[in-house]
Amino acid sequence: MQLIFRCPRCQQTSRVEVSKSLETLECESCDWSRAVQAGELDDQELPQRCLACSCDDLWRQKDFPQKVGLLIVGLGILLSTIAWAYFQILLAIGILMGFALLDLALFSLMSDVLVCYSCGARHRHIDPDERHLGFNLETAERHRQEAARLADTK
Ligand SMILES: [Zn+2]
Ligand SMILES: [Zn+2]
Repeated sequence: MQLIFRCPRCQQTSRVEVSKSLETLECESCDWSRAVQAGELDDQELPQRCLACSCDDLWRQKDFPQKVGLLIVGLGILLSTIAWAYFQILLAIGILMGFALLDLALFSLMSDVLVCYSCGARHRHIDPDERHLGFNLETAERHRQEAARLADTK
């Protein structure tokens, strides 16, 4: 599994390979480290909670850069609009459908990633099971408020 996390101390992003034998997670830029507890990775090397901050809440997302998805959709609309302007209606519809299919194909090819609600760490190259659900706004809001409360008491 690969973990991409932001160091709580120096705020730099680190990308580390994680296996069951990993005992401490280390920042690539400073000397921050965190001991990985037994049980945080199960037998399939699936994280039971966030490895960077030990938060219990992870949500499942496609490991697909949102910008690329938007770009494909935007390009499809642009090209079909051009075709439409030249009265190539069938072509316009064809282009739109082609891009929609492309988007769908890319989406289903992408693997899943588990994202931490609290610190945003991404756990990649894994195969999450049904326990991990998609994004939940309530959980995200709870974490946002917790973070705000922590910032207040500092
Ligand atoms: Zn650091
Ligand atoms: Zn986290």
